[in-house]
Amino acid sequence: MIVIEVPDDVVYERMLARRLCSTCGRDYNLLSNPPAKKDACDCGGKLVQRADDQPGPIRDRIKDYRSVTQPVIDLFKKKEKVVVVDGTQPIDKVWDGIRQGLGLAKR
Ligand SMILES: [Zn+2]
Repeated sequence: MIVIEVPDDVVYERMLARRLCSTCGRDYNLLSNPPAKKDACDCGGKLVQRADDQPGPIRDRIKDYRSVTQPVIDLFKKKEKVVVVDGTQPIDKVWDGIRQGLGLAKR
């Protein structure tokens, strides 16, 4: 099992910043992966926010993760190999952490 661990408040901010193109379906994040032009997809389509990427639903999803998913992770940690990587690092560092945790060579 691979767990990319990110503090709840960072998850909240990231989910709140997610946008989806209503034309081509491309994903953006206004914080880490913004479109070239504000509020529009690079294809020209309108960017929308998923209904469950609103503050209330995000808090509910984080609560569900901590109450339903976290106990499963904790159980796995007792029985199986669980690689935990800090998901607040840059993407290439997260990849390196996963590879290192799995005993794979560096890229
Ligand atoms: Zn698009």
